[in-house]
Amino acid sequence: MNIEKTRPPYGGHGDRGITVLLKKMHDVVADDVNAQERLDHLTTIIANHVVADVCSIYLRRSDDRLELFATTGLKTEAVHITRLTWGEGLVGLVADNQQPLVTDNAPAHPAFSYRPETGEDLLQSFLGVPLLHSGQVLGVLVLQNHKARQYKEDEVGAAQAVATLLAEIAASGELLDRAETQEVDEVLHRPESLKGSGVVPGIVIAQAATHEAPIPKHRVFAGDVSVEAKKLETGLELLRESVDNMLLKKDLKGVSREVLETYRLFAYDRGWKERLRTAVFSGLSAETAVLRVKAENRERMNKSADPYLRERLYDLDDLANRLIRLMNGESPDTPRALPENAILFAETMGPAELLEYDREKLKGVVLADASQTSHVAIVARAMEIPMLGGLSQAFDRIEEGDTIIIDGTTGDLHIRPNQDVLTSYKNKQELQSEKQARYAKERHLASVSLDGREIDILMNAGLVLDMPHLVSTGAVGVGLFRTELQFLIGSQLPSVEQQETLYREVMDYANGKPVIFRTADLGGDKTAEYMHRSQEVNPAMGWRGLRMAVDRPGLFRPQLRALLSATAGGYLNVMLPMVTLGSEIDEARHMLDLEINWHKKRNKPLPKTIKIGAMIETPAAAWALEHIAPKVDFFSVGGNDLAQFYFAADRETPAVTRRFDPLNTGFLSFLKRIVSKSEEAKVPLGYCGEQVSDPLVAVGLLGVGIKHFSVPATMVGPFRRLVRHLHMDRLEEWFDDQLLSSRDSLRIDLQNYLKSEDIKVEDL
Ligand code: PEP
Ligand code: MG
Repeated sequence: MNIEKTRPPYGGHGDRGITVLLKKMHDVVADDVNAQERLDHLTTIIANHVVADVCSIYLRRSDDRLELFATTGLKTEAVHITRLTWGEGLVGLVADNQQPLVTDNAPAHPAFSYRPETGEDLLQSFLGVPLLHSGQVLGVLVLQNHKARQYKEDEVGAAQAVATLLAEIAASGELLDRAETQEVDEVLHRPESLKGSGVVPGIVIAQAATHEAPIPKHRVFAGDVSVEAKKLETGLELLRESVDNMLLKKDLKGVSREVLETYRLFAYDRGWKERLRTAVFSGLSAETAVLRVKAENRERMNKSADPYLRERLYDLDDLANRLIRLMNGESPDTPRALPENAILFAETMGPAELLEYDREKLKGVVLADASQTSHVAIVARAMEIPMLGGLSQAFDRIEEGDTIIIDGTTGDLHIRPNQDVLTSYKNKQELQSEKQARYAKERHLASVSLDGREIDILMNAGLVLDMPHLVSTGAVGVGLFRTELQFLIGSQLPSVEQQETLYREVMDYANGKPVIFRTADLGGDKTAEYMHRSQEVNPAMGWRGLRMAVDRPGLFRPQLRALLSATAGGYLNVMLPMVTLGSEIDEARHMLDLEINWHKKRNKPLPKTIKIGAMIETPAAAWALEHIAPKVDFFSVGGNDLAQFYFAADRETPAVTRRFDPLNTGFLSFLKRIVSKSEEAKVPLGYCGEQVSDPLVAVGLLGVGIKHFSVPATMVGPFRRLVRHLHMDRLEEWFDDQLLSSRDSLRIDLQNYLKSEDIKVEDL
């Protein structure tokens, strides 16, 4: 093989070998011959180029058999006769695994399936690569040699590049005849089911729409190379112009200056331009050339150990997509118009971008990556838009307009579902809306247990958008207003006036119900680009929350000033995040006093009462509760963080969080100790972690004596129903006994207990 100097995949720049081969493939595809002759020519030139004794192309038929469509080296009588079932033989294995397979002793391979009609008796070495398109295997490209030899990594890479191109031209209709292209099309549009992670609950059936405009339909190979070269040149000029214009704008909506600077760097990069030109001159259309170089960059940057470089991948991808759109006369910046019922697919998305979409049309979101606590997820939850994360593999499988089902509770995604799946989800949806209607009807009921214990249910919020839920859910107040969201969704630090406006609006919506404002829990992963933070190894345990606030009075004092002004004449409840030591509260109080004096000096009105609370989120604060108690008016357990530090398990890493159940006897005893210490100190205590979303955990928290809760708005209704079905005395007694055991989790025991009490949490 003389492709040893090529670089995988698609070869790197300066890679002559693969470029020459692509050029030859282009000439063959452009030939005015029938599909079979074209395929035969292709196998010949590939075999010659890579010095293989055999080159064969197997294509997938609609019954999933892999049929020998063309060969150089095997007996031609076998063409269209040899068919392998999915997974059969080495070819079937390549298709099934969607991975290349290399062996220097094919007959000895356990999966080897001998086909006498092909005459492959004396072939020792085998290299098979899948023809992948839109996540589907369309066939297999096979290279074989008589002699035993190990194909090298770069040879495999080059074969993959050729296979990718073959798949592309098969899908584009440039390779096969009409009926066969239609069969390929059917394979590409089959129903598919994928599993991601549920980020915001809810079932949605709607149409796929993409955050990024889809790449316009294009040919794979150039009709006329000089026309394509000109198209590329013009596109690049327009791209540079558009990036320069964006940088001139003062108000950079959504995109930060840093990202734009990166765009500029890439847009003017000579190496990038050269690689694009080389690809065009090898016979590819301008669009395919851009996509090819994009894939090559992706491969290289993905391997990089530098996280900064890996993050820039999205920028570079975005730039390549912009270039393609500009080459096709589309403006890259016009906001996307959504169809009536849209499920939006986006690689990444900031909260501000999400807010720009038409709420009436946007029904669901699928992201390549998003955790429950990511900013965009918090906003989606506020907007009640079901969301899935962890689904990067979905992106090349969907097309705009495809029917999609998402289940934000289970993380299931169905693309082009069949009728049975659709019907079952429609039923599920109906059940869900019945439940919602029931919660709405019950919103005026008191949350009192069967034995007459009253439980306060407040809700969590962070945006003005959340506030109407106060009425619709019947929550008795806002127990956690995450003020940092305002800092995170903007492109610059909010001014005192902007902060005050937000807090006033929140108080207006609350209409007399209490609101607890948590001062900005910034730092850790909650940083805005304009904050220019240096990377921390352990951001969750880093310079965040109250630690940062007391170190940066320039950030903290304006917020306190805005809070005091917005609640003047009323009641101000301020809560401090990530308290570790009592002395931090002293420092915060001192700053609050300075701000109170600032108001007094200027004869500005102040709130009637000011209450200060500490979030109990670190074991240090929990253990020293009695020492912190005299310094505050109330406590609120931040269960998300407290559990993370108790179990030493990062809340953003599902691989560890799923190992530790909050229904662990140690953790529950720890909470019980916190409850009794706060009672001894006569300081009221609430709980505002999101774990209540799991009804069994909610029962556990009630069982250890917590009486005030702040929960996500969607949980207010179900939680109230739960409380109304429980007998609290009996529950506490049961937990008192169980906490003496050494169970990792009381989940099963609790399920049994609830069964004995005739309570079905899943039906509530
Ligand atoms: C918590 O940690 O439980 C909490 C409510 O705060 P956040 O989720 O905003 O860190
Ligand atoms: Mg927290």
